[in-house]
This record gives sequence, structure tokens and C-alpha cells, in this order.
Amino acid sequence: MPSETERCFPALRLSAWIMDSLSPNFSSARAWCVPCLVSLDTLQELCRKEKLTCKSIGITKRNLNNYEVEYLCDYKVVKDMEYYLVKWKGWPDSTNTWEPLQNLKCPLLLQQFSNDKHNYLSQVKKGKAITLKENHRALKPAVAEYIVKKAKQRIALQRWQDELNRRKTHKGMIFVENTVDLEGPPSDFYYINEYKPAPGISLVNEATFGCSCRDCFFEKCCPAEAGVLLAYNKNQQIKIPPGTPIYECNSRCQCGPDCPNRIVQKGTQYSLCIFRTSNGCGWGVKTLVKIKRMSFVMEYVGEVITSEEAERRGQLYDNKGITYLFDLDYESDEFTVDAARYGNVSHFVNHSCDPNLQVFNVFIDNLDTRLPRIALFSTRTINAGEELTFDYQMKGSGDVSSDSIDHSPAKKRARTVCKCGAVTCRGYLN
Ligand SMILES: [Zn+2]
Ligand SMILES: [Zn+2]
Ligand SMILES: [Zn+2]
Ligand SMILES: [Zn+2]
Repeated sequence: MPSETERCFPALRLSAWIMDSLSPNFSSARAWCVPCLVSLDTLQELCRKEKLTCKSIGITKRNLNNYEVEYLCDYKVVKDMEYYLVKWKGWPDSTNTWEPLQNLKCPLLLQQFSNDKHNYLSQVKKGKAITLKENHRALKPAVAEYIVKKAKQRIALQRWQDELNRRKTHKGMIFVENTVDLEGPPSDFYYINEYKPAPGISLVNEATFGCSCRDCFFEKCCPAEAGVLLAYNKNQQIKIPPGTPIYECNSRCQCGPDCPNRIVQKGTQYSLCIFRTSNGCGWGVKTLVKIKRMSFVMEYVGEVITSEEAERRGQLYDNKGITYLFDLDYESDEFTVDAARYGNVSHFVNHSCDPNLQVFNVFIDNLDTRLPRIALFSTRTINAGEELTFDYQMKGSGDVSSDSIDHSPAKKRARTVCKCGAVTCRGYLN
């Protein structure tokens, strides 16, 4: 029995399905009804598998043996009849068949097909300044080709989105969107939730000290022990200036998960979207919900490597690769975080010279000052739909004019031109 009995699901009643299929005469016994949490698709699939008909979910004797349309590939008109070339789910391209429109029960896919067609035609018109003679009998091969590519891309991005959400350990959901071009998921990127130390580098995962406060907000807590102020106010906003370290409560502390000094360790709380930018900046990240100012948004993670290794990789990487190298220069310059192949959502966050995220060094279970964790906090209120950005030059130091920039290994790496568009743009990413 579902515990949330007040929840209502769209006209789907498992009991109705059972009764309809097994014993149609019972269909008046409504007292049995329970809300069904299974999706319509799944129920239909189940019916097909068991060869059961169920009128209330649209499985009739007539369509019981129908195949599922994965996407539509092409269109033609023969003897005033409209046909679509269908790619069947779970079947190879070679088994695609032309089906009359009247047989297709896939309004969303038909809509998608029509949208893709119009998008393509409007792009071509814009690009070449020609008026295409619309052929109502058949599609031009280039149009059909584009529609198929778009359909395949959509499936690949959906699969990637599912994978990202399976891998992530934080609360916020990750969405993926590309309405701009045909780019699919990155081919050489692996989602991780925390630092991945290179061989030979050890990250201590247990603190040497933990507090025993009854209230970490008012008492001398972990930050005091490290000689700094508590980083957060009662609204979970950061109140210390950039460049100041954050010392959060750790696994040795007596306090519980609701301690006001446990923020970064809880991970991203917001639903974010990796999206294709329309200004040539590749992938970017936008928030799907409003983010309060001074709030923790995400951590910057990647492989932890030595600065020498970063130097070597910096020579091999192209301009894009170089931007993923994040020197941990809080107190030494021994280590670098490389998020090029291994990373989280932060891998996709673009640079801006006028950013809405700010970098902070964080110590939780690892108190080794050479290896701070990197957290990105909002500098202002960020509205739903806004792109998230941080200043690649502010990595760690929090001060662009500090020595850490001029003497960092980044200086020896090739420079990348900035496309952020801010009034205060400095012209380069690194
Ligand atoms: Zn405490
Ligand atoms: Zn503590
Ligand atoms: Zn605490
Ligand atoms: Zn710029």
C-alpha cells in the first residue's frame, strides 16, 4: 500500500488494470482502487509483455502487438496519404518502416519532428539568405538527416543526464539541455563527487580534532581552534571575506548533521542545468532555482596532482584543457586540481570577469593546508535561469592582483582569450 494516499496520479489505477484484464465483470468494484505509482509507459509495456489488454491505459486487442516508436526519421506523401519513417525502439535502423500518420500514436514525437524541421529550415534560411521552396511531397535528404541527428542527440543527452544523476551524491538534480547545436555528451569526462588523488598523493580523511560544543554557533568551535571566524550566519550564508578559509565541523565533532557549521560537506542543494551556450562558450551551467546571495552552490573537484604534473599537462593540453587546471595556492603551491577528465558540474561552469560565484578554501576532514577543498559561493542573488560563472583567475587566492597569479605555473601555460562579454573583461582567461 502506498503511504501517501492523498497523492493523486493521472487516471491510473492498478486495480482497474488487474480487473479489466483478468475479470472485466468486476470493473464496478471501485472500492479496491489504489493510486498507482508506476508510469503509464511501464504499465503499457507490462501489458504487452503479459499479452494483457486494458482499455483504461490504451492497450486494446488491436494495438497489443504494436511496436514502440523511438523517433521519426522522414516524411512523405503518397496518394494524398501522409507517411513517416519510423525508428522502432529496441530495433536497428535497418528495420525502419514507413507508417501512415493515422497509425502513429506519438503526438510528442510528431511535434518534435515538426519543431526540428522548422528549426533546421529557419537556420538554413538565416545562414544562406535563400528562400527554400517547401516541398510538400517529401523532405530534402539534408532535412531528414538533421532530424535524425537531433533525435539521436536527444537520446544520448538524456542517457548522459540519467547517468550524471545516478552518480551524483548530492541533493540537487542535474539537467542537460542543448537547443543550440548538434553537440552530444562529452566523450572523455567522468563524473566524480570528491577529489581523486593521483597515485602517491594521500588525502587524510579523518580530522585530528573535533569539537564537543552543545551549540556550534555560539561556542568556541572548530573555526576558533584553527584561529579563524565561523564562516556562516544563521541563514547558512557565508559572512567572511574572500581569501579567508572555512573550517567546517567534521567527523570527529560531537554535533549532528544540522550543525550550522556543516554546509559545503552537504553538497549542492540546487537543481542545475548543463546547457549549450549560444555565444560560442561551449557548455555552461545555469541554475533552475533562485539562489540566495552568499550561499554555497557547488564544490570544484577533479584529480589532485602535483604542480610538476600540472606543468607537464599544461604543455600538452589545448587552451580549453588548460582552463581546468586549478592551482591550490592557499598556503603552498604544491598541488593542482585538474578537472579536465574527472569532475563534477563545476567542470562546465564558464569563466567571467564579472562572475556571480566566488571561490573559498574549505577544510573539513582534511586539515592539511596544502590541500584545501574548493567551494563556490554566490556573490549575489542569482535568479532561476541565470548562467553561473566564476573568475578563473581568482582560483584560490581570492585576490587577482596577488603574487599567486604572476608566479603560478599558469603563467607558463598558453593564454586563452576571454569571451565573457563583461564590461570589465580583462581579455584573457588565465
Ligand atoms: Zn562545534
Ligand atoms: Zn566542530
Ligand atoms: Zn558543529
Ligand atoms: Zn572576460
